[in-house]
Amino acid sequence: MPQSDIKRLLSKIEFEEPQIVQLKDELFEKNGVQVSVLRLDKIQTVISGNKLFKLFYFLKEAKKSLHKTIITFGGAYSNHLAATAFACEKMKIKAVGIVRGEKPKSLSHTLQFCLEYGMHLEFISRSLYKNIDEKFLQHLKDKYGDYILIPEGGFSVEGKNGASLINYYFADKNFTHVCLPVGTATTFAGIVDANESETEIMGVGVLKNLNDIAERFGELKVDVSKKYSFIGDYHFDGYAKKNDELTSFMNPFYSKHSIPLDFVYTAKLMFGVYDLIAKNYFKPGSNILCIHTGGLQGNDSLKEGELIY
Ligand SMILES: *Cc1c(COP(=O)(O)O)cnc(C)c1O
Repeated sequence: MPQSDIKRLLSKIEFEEPQIVQLKDELFEKNGVQVSVLRLDKIQTVISGNKLFKLFYFLKEAKKSLHKTIITFGGAYSNHLAATAFACEKMKIKAVGIVRGEKPKSLSHTLQFCLEYGMHLEFISRSLYKNIDEKFLQHLKDKYGDYILIPEGGFSVEGKNGASLINYYFADKNFTHVCLPVGTATTFAGIVDANESETEIMGVGVLKNLNDIAERFGELKVDVSKKYSFIGDYHFDGYAKKNDELTSFMNPFYSKHSIPLDFVYTAKLMFGVYDLIAKNYFKPGSNILCIHTGGLQGNDSLKEGELIY
């Protein structure tokens, strides 16, 4: 996919080319490694990160057919729902978000954001959400007409192929490792699948018990002969869980590098990379790229004043 195609499709979204910045740190010097960050968090002022890439082929498809609606799924804090709402509003595509659980009295920041951007929200019970059946799909068809369905988190071959577009930004830069946080593993899958070099793509899990990466890669049709590894030790007790160790990593990281991290994904990634460097996991001479996958709006749920940014 040539870069101009990404630009053309995303032109309505005012998309900026992401930059790679190198971090300076005594620890890196001492252990003989280089660390850089791909700033996907800066590609867009409202919706940053990996989500737009995962949506790319779905948006392209919806644009081709005039009256199609995009329907997708997520929880009350889903970055994916927010990104879908935003992209669809900008591209004048009708969007429906199916939200897990009964409608709460006060909506999360994320869901308020979705409504502001014109997404229609439908709340369904957790049990139906877990087992979406034919009857529910028919209800959607009756209500919204023809639609394109995007699975939760964009977990699909199309979502993976969209994530593969990210490789364009680092493929010719000779990194020994490319590290990124892993939720549904769709982004990880896309980056592994498109890896044409000896670079090791290293996923860092942000959920407990992510023991099924191989199955996920199978479902997403990833070429598993590509070089990759998975690290499961930095989930901090589970998805969106955190402790003082994690939050007290985020502020100094920001002071030192002027890069904000979110506590759900990118802070766990960077904490993990720092810890692995300290434990000499990376050979001297390693040239490591960390992908900042965005998600900073997730910090809205933190207490006022907890972060200095
Ligand atoms: C959604 C998200 C991820 C996880 O991406 P997957 O493709 O689901 O693994 C990583 N980082 C951020 C900031 C996200 O919002």
